[in-house]
Amino acid sequence: MPNTRCSTPNASLFRISRMRIAIGGFFHESNSFCQAPTTLADYERARLYAGAEMLPPLRGTDTEIGGFLRAADHLGFEAVPTSYAWAWPAGLLTGDCFRTLLDRLKAAVEACLPVDGILLSIHGALATEADDDPDGTILAEVRSCLPPGVPLVVTCDFHANLSPLMVSSCDALIGYRTYPHVDLADCGEEAAGLLVRMLQDEIRPTMALAKPPLMPHIVRQRTADGPMAELMAMARAAEQEPGVLRVTVAGGFAYADVPRVGIGALAITDGDPDRAADVAHTLADTAWERRRAFTAAPPGPQEAVRRALTHPAGHGPVVLSDIGDNVGGGSPGDGTVLLRELLRQGPRGALVLLTDPEAVAAALQAGVRARLSLRVGGKTDCLHGDPVEVTGRVRLLADGIFRNRGPMRDGLVDDQGRTAVLDVDGFTLVLCERKMPQWNLQQFRSLGIDPADQRVIVCKGAVAHRAAYEPIAAEIIDVDTPGACAGDMRQFHYERLRRPLYPLDEW
Ligand SMILES: [Zn+2]
Repeated sequence: MPNTRCSTPNASLFRISRMRIAIGGFFHESNSFCQAPTTLADYERARLYAGAEMLPPLRGTDTEIGGFLRAADHLGFEAVPTSYAWAWPAGLLTGDCFRTLLDRLKAAVEACLPVDGILLSIHGALATEADDDPDGTILAEVRSCLPPGVPLVVTCDFHANLSPLMVSSCDALIGYRTYPHVDLADCGEEAAGLLVRMLQDEIRPTMALAKPPLMPHIVRQRTADGPMAELMAMARAAEQEPGVLRVTVAGGFAYADVPRVGIGALAITDGDPDRAADVAHTLADTAWERRRAFTAAPPGPQEAVRRALTHPAGHGPVVLSDIGDNVGGGSPGDGTVLLRELLRQGPRGALVLLTDPEAVAAALQAGVRARLSLRVGGKTDCLHGDPVEVTGRVRLLADGIFRNRGPMRDGLVDDQGRTAVLDVDGFTLVLCERKMPQWNLQQFRSLGIDPADQRVIVCKGAVAHRAAYEPIAAEIIDVDTPGACAGDMRQFHYERLRRPLYPLDEW
């Protein structure tokens, strides 16, 4: 129930009845195959906000917090900011980093009590050096800070590896409906709507989770087509049934070596646990029956580059998806496998982005219009190819800060560090200091490069870049490249997954 903590007799009726809802987040997608751990410094470089600091950068953006705030405006509750920690996908969190950020969140929640309820944004595929299910730990510990009866409603990423602890530690948990993820704010707004309905005693959510022993290939997790689109359609249909409040299909994240890896179906009903279990298990059974449709075998670099270079010109760029060096899944963004193959076949009109602070420093020192030879990329680890020798002319030096526009992360400002644009014989090479997924065309437009005018673009991603690039691309070719996000999970050595798990184990 809404609390009525107002003590002054002169308070207006509006003030007395206004709900106070805490909002916050602790977000990370952690990749066990990235060597460098994720530390507090990574959060400080990305988004680490205490209390009201989160409001100016996130209000009006396509983020969960943006959605919570939009709901506060529409539904008339007071959003009380607690703590928000968000870092780019990368290696496992250190124990210190995890504990520090969780303690900050808990302290901020305790400091804002009393509240009527709390809304939290998590990823669902966070992993640390010591905890199998840190997302579950976050929810369980935050809930322990709340007085009995104060509901906790949570949003998670589509790639969450859902767990029983996550589900049992909150009152409602809902995930994105899309991959590429274009509904973050909608998801936040929907979570807020569920919480308000709970507080008004309209609904009493009950949840059921079903997890078949299946981990879909990353490119088969696209929600626009294929088997995942079928599951999403089933979930949407189930939501039309009386008493079914929300159905989440979470694709899972294959690059965390933890037992909870895999696809999950989570149904929320209004006080009907049997119905929730039925919906979740029907989806899980369908996913399992369709398990072979969730495998994929994209072409390798040689074949993919040949197809890109022989594509008729004039219809927009051909995008090569460098799956193994998927920055949005934690890879370093300095993979050279496709660059090397382009150079071998003749890179005519290609655009390539590499994270390489050392090369950026050399370009800065040389200056605009200078010609220089560099070894670029392949410096973070031994999974993503060796450095490549290039000679080019510095066309532009920039601060690397841009504001996202369009269907994904609209309104957010991103910072890829100082950036150099080089004209190399036959192609354009963009070098940046910090790894940055290719999720938005503003990343290149802010450098005076129109992606639509390119012949071939290497995108360091699996699926997410499609939100930005599908509207301009002649064709997008998934490429089976090596790396910390390689598509075929059978290439990795896992120690802690639950087994059997398809496709590691055959049925
Ligand atoms: Zn995701």
